[in-house]
Amino acid sequence: DGLVKKVEEVSLKEDNRDDDDETVDLATLSLMRKLTRNRILESKSNEVEVTRANPNSPLHSVKSFEELNLPEGLLKGIYEMGFSAPSKIQETVLPILLSNPPTNIIAQSQSGTGKTAAFLLSSLARVDDSLNYPQVLILSPTYELALQTGQVAEFMAKHKKTIKFKYVVRGVELHRDSQIQEHVILGTPGKVMDAALRYRCFDIRKIRVLVLDEADVMIDTQGHRNQSIRIKNALSSNCQIMFFSATYEGAVMEFAEQIVKDPVIIRLKKEEETLANLFGTLTIGQVFIFCQTKKAAAWLTDKLRKDGHSVGIITGDLTVEERTEVINRFRDGVERVLIATNLMARGIDVDQVTVVINYDLPIDITTKDIDFETYLHRIGRTGRFGKSGLAINMVDSQRTLEMIKKLEQHYGREISMLDANDLDRLE
Ligand code: ADP
Repeated sequence: DGLVKKVEEVSLKEDNRDDDDETVDLATLSLMRKLTRNRILESKSNEVEVTRANPNSPLHSVKSFEELNLPEGLLKGIYEMGFSAPSKIQETVLPILLSNPPTNIIAQSQSGTGKTAAFLLSSLARVDDSLNYPQVLILSPTYELALQTGQVAEFMAKHKKTIKFKYVVRGVELHRDSQIQEHVILGTPGKVMDAALRYRCFDIRKIRVLVLDEADVMIDTQGHRNQSIRIKNALSSNCQIMFFSATYEGAVMEFAEQIVKDPVIIRLKKEEETLANLFGTLTIGQVFIFCQTKKAAAWLTDKLRKDGHSVGIITGDLTVEERTEVINRFRDGVERVLIATNLMARGIDVDQVTVVINYDLPIDITTKDIDFETYLHRIGRTGRFGKSGLAINMVDSQRTLEMIKKLEQHYGREISMLDANDLDRLE
């Protein structure tokens, strides 16, 4: 494909770097993922690991939504959303969350695996719509994420209109005498804490289900951890707690322990992505190109566009809406090449990518050295669903070459050298 050649041509990088590395917060990346995703991320080889504090708690998995005795309207809602069967994590999480007496859970799986749908379904199923007060409290890290989750919830409940929703987020005025009567509250920790504890807009002791969504993003924000703990401390002791996170780092689990008593812990283990499927027969589908800085990304985009390629670019300068549009255009095939900065790259999940070009290798900001995890995450995008993929790393200095050697050592795989001038081999 002409692109590879072009990229090789510009691989003699001009000295156009400076330190305009961008910063982007986890919540924004998470929102982008949600806005651009249109289907479940599943892999047959994923394994679910369950750890129970209480050996008496139920443990069985389901293969269909019918087995769960869900309210009719909710079942209709999820079918309308296009769900035919539970995802891998839902198979295990749903029966545990829906069983009685209620069980607390900590669930961790990659984003896109069906966590949001799981907690919405289980918490909505617990609403008694004959009682006009809040029973479900869903905490999200940001205003945007709360609204996004609410949209999914309202869609899911569209055939059960008796369930009412209230957003307790920035911009909503709270007073001592504004009583909330809706069944489900969606909000951010600070605002919900004000509504519950400061203005007493609802009786927090009547909450039956507390959901902590995106806990890993939550702890990233100053204050959210303490606010969540204060909310939890005000709940009645039989309130069910559902704690969800995309990652399983020490800090997240520490936070989980402070919030969730006697939990069943469920983890969907990530598929081992290896370099093994990188080389092989290759049908060029779409291409990601990663650059370290905005400036490099803009420069490369310009260069490729001038050469007549239709190229999309995504950097932190764009609004979330603009980024979403760029990703959707790319997914729809309007552009076959997407250039992203290293940080933005983490917000993108596109399945049909077969070639990943690391114009710059991913660098860990603290160690200033190769970032193994991001590297694997990136190249793991290629070759999904049995297709083969290709990753190309541009080498422009002794330092980059050393990082490639580290990659080879770390993964015990050889990365073969391609000569930029050997066009036959490149193609
Ligand atoms: P997470 O919260 O883990 O990021 P979501 O619940 O948002 O994942 O699900 C990811 C995508 O998959 C969404 O587009 C959602 O509508 C869809 N999805 C979730 N569960 C199912 C299912 N059982 N069948 C089909 N699609 C599903």
